[in-house]
Amino acid sequence: EPDPLMRPEARAEDADRALRPQVLGEFIGQEEARANLGVFIESARLRGEAMDHTLFHGPPGLGKTTLAQIVARELGVNFRMTSGPVLAKAGDLAAILTNLEARDVLFIDEIHRLNPVVEEVLYPALEDFELDLVIGEGPAARTVRIELQPFTLVGATTRLGLLTTPLRDRFGIPTRLNFYTEDELFQIVERGARLLGLPAEDGGVREIARRARGTPRIAGRLLRRVVDFALVEGDGRLTQALADSALTRLGVDGLGLDGADRRYLTLIAENYAGGPVGVETLSAALSESRDAIEEVIEPYLLQQGLIQRTPRGRMLAAKAWSHLGMAAPKASGQ
Ligand code: ADP
Repeated sequence: EPDPLMRPEARAEDADRALRPQVLGEFIGQEEARANLGVFIESARLRGEAMDHTLFHGPPGLGKTTLAQIVARELGVNFRMTSGPVLAKAGDLAAILTNLEARDVLFIDEIHRLNPVVEEVLYPALEDFELDLVIGEGPAARTVRIELQPFTLVGATTRLGLLTTPLRDRFGIPTRLNFYTEDELFQIVERGARLLGLPAEDGGVREIARRARGTPRIAGRLLRRVVDFALVEGDGRLTQALADSALTRLGVDGLGLDGADRRYLTLIAENYAGGPVGVETLSAALSESRDAIEEVIEPYLLQQGLIQRTPRGRMLAAKAWSHLGMAAPKASGQ
C-alpha cells in the first residue's frame, strides 16, 4: 500500500505552493547556500549579466525547486521549468532554449535523467550560448548554428553521483542541500501554521519539527494533516498532545520514521540478521524501486546513524536495533 506521505498526490503539491518561501529572506536554513547565493545574485545584477549555472543536489523536499524560483525572482527574470525525463528529444530542449529571454532562469529537475543526446546539445548552449542543430537525415543532413540569449541553467538532482562529469563540470555554482535541524524546522512549521491560520503552541510546533524527517516538504504535509485533526477532533489549536496523537495515527514514529522506513529496517533485522544485504535484494523484497530506496529512504536513515553502507551491503547500526526494540544478534559485530 503506497504511503501517502512519500508519494504525494497532485493536490498535495498545490498545497505545497502556498507554503513556499518567495524571497531569499523568507527561506529558513541552508545558511551557507543562502549566503553564497545572495552574493552571486547581487553580483549578476550589478554586472547586468546572466548568473552562472547552478546545481542544487540533495534529498527530495529540501528546497531545490524553491531556491531555483527564488533565484529567478531575485534576479528579476522569467522562471522556466522542465525535467530531465520530459526532454526526450534534442528538439524538445531546443524549443525551450530558443524561447528564453536574456538572463532567464531555466530549471531542469532530475537533471541526472537527461537523455545523452539531449545532454550533448546542452553543452554548447551552456558554454557559448549556442545551439548546433542537425536538420534532415542521411547525406542531406546539415548542421545549423543558432545563437541563444545568455541564460542561467539551474539543475536539481537527488543523485549527484549519476551526473556525467562533463555535465557536472559546467556548473559554476554547485550547491549541496542538507537535512534541516529541528530548530530550523520549528521556524518552518511556525511560519506554516501562521500562513494556514492555525493557533499553535510551541510544544505542538516542536513535535512536528522533531518528527519531520529533517525535510520541509514533510513538515508541511504533516502540518496540514495535523490541522485536519485539530479542526475535526481538537479545539482548533495545535498542541503537543494533539500533534503527538495525530502523528502516531499517521504512522510517524518518535524519530520521524514512516512505514516505509520501518519496513526497511525490520526487513534487514528479521530476514538478514542485520545485514550486510545488497540494495537489489532489498528492492525486490520491499517492492520498492532501487531509486526510491537510495534517494528517499536511505539518506535520512544514514544521517540518523540507523544504518551503515559497507562494500558488502547495508547493515543496521546499534541505534536501529534499539529503535526497533530488538536485540542485535551476537555474531553481527555490533
Ligand atoms: P525539492 O525541489 O528539493 O524536492 P521543494 O523546493 O519542492 O523541494 O520544497 C518542498 C516544499 O518544502 C516547498 O513547497 C516549500 O513549501 C517547503 N520548503 C522547502 N524549503 C523550505 C524552507 N527553507 N523554508 C520553508 N519552506 C521550505
